[in-house]
Amino acid sequence: MKPGNDFYCRQGGDNPMHAPRYCGIPTFMRAPFIEDPVEIDIALVGVPYDGAVEARSGTRQGPRQIRDMSSMMRSIHHVTRVNPYELCRVGDVGDVPFSRIFDVEASHRDITSFYERLNNAGVWPLSAGGDHSITLPILRAIAMDRPLGLIHIDAHTDCCDEEMNSKYSHGTPFRRACEENLIDPERMIQIGIRGAANSPECWEFGERNGIRIVFMEEFARIGVERTVEEARRIVGNGPVYITFDVDGLDPAFTPGTGTPEIGGLTSLEAQGLIRGFRGLNLVGADVVEVAPPFDPSGSTALVAATVMYEILCILAGSRITNS
Ligand code: MN
Ligand code: MN
Repeated sequence: MKPGNDFYCRQGGDNPMHAPRYCGIPTFMRAPFIEDPVEIDIALVGVPYDGAVEARSGTRQGPRQIRDMSSMMRSIHHVTRVNPYELCRVGDVGDVPFSRIFDVEASHRDITSFYERLNNAGVWPLSAGGDHSITLPILRAIAMDRPLGLIHIDAHTDCCDEEMNSKYSHGTPFRRACEENLIDPERMIQIGIRGAANSPECWEFGERNGIRIVFMEEFARIGVERTVEEARRIVGNGPVYITFDVDGLDPAFTPGTGTPEIGGLTSLEAQGLIRGFRGLNLVGADVVEVAPPFDPSGSTALVAATVMYEILCILAGSRITNS
C-alpha cells in the first residue's frame, strides 16, 4: 500500500523537509537520492576516501556522518532568505565507488571518472570528503578545459611537493593542481593558514607562485569583511571553486579531524566568509577532512553539514545567474 501524505516518515515524500528528521535513509540535506545526474543541477556527492593521509585517518567515514547530521538542515537561509531548492534541482548522487581502494592513484582515477560523468551532464558538484587529496581528482574532471580560481579555507597550504615520498597525499593537492594548470595560482587565496611545519617549502610555494596566503594572524587582524573583499579581488569574475577543510576552524568547533591546529576560525566567521562569496562565479565546492572517529559529539559533522548548506545557497544563486 502506498502511504499517503499524512504518513510523516514517508521516504521520498513530496517535501522531505516536513518529515521528522530521524526518519528514513539519510541523504545529504534530506535531498532526494538521484542516480541519473541529467535530472539535477547540483549534485551532493560523498567521497569516502582517506588513503592519502599521513596523520590520523578516519575521514573515509565522513560522508556517512555528514549525511546523518545534515538532516538537521532546513531550506530557507535566515539571512539571505535564499531557498536553494526553489532555485535549483538538488540531489544526492551517492558515494564515489572505488575499484582499488588501497591504491591512491587508482582511487583518484575513480574519483575523476565519477565527476566526469557529472561534468558531462552539466551538473555542478558539492562534495563531502574524505581527505583533502580528493580535491585534485575532482578538479581534473571539472577544470580540464580552463584553470579555475580557488578559495581555500584550511589551516594548511596543502602545497607540499611530496609527503612520505608520494606526490599524491592530502598535503600536496594544490601544488599538483597548479602544475597541472587546473588552478590559476594568481586567482587563488588561502585563508586560515597556521601551525608549525617540518619544512617551510609548503608556504614558499605559494609565495613564489603568486598565491595570496592569509595567515590566521592576518585574518585575526583584518576580519571577515576585509578578507572577503580580498578574496573577491583575487578571484575576480572568472570561474571559482571553493575548497573547505574543516581544520581551518579552531578544534573547539571541529575537533573531529585528522590534523587539528589551535587558534583557528570560529564557525560564525566561516559562515560570514561563505556568505561574503555570494555572487561569485562559482562552479563547485567541497568540504573535507571530517573524521568521525575523533568526533564523538557529532559537532564537526554538524559544522560540515552547515557549511555545505551555506555553500549550497550561494552555489544555487550562481547556477541560476550563469545558466
Ligand atoms: Mn587541507
Ligand atoms: Mn588542513
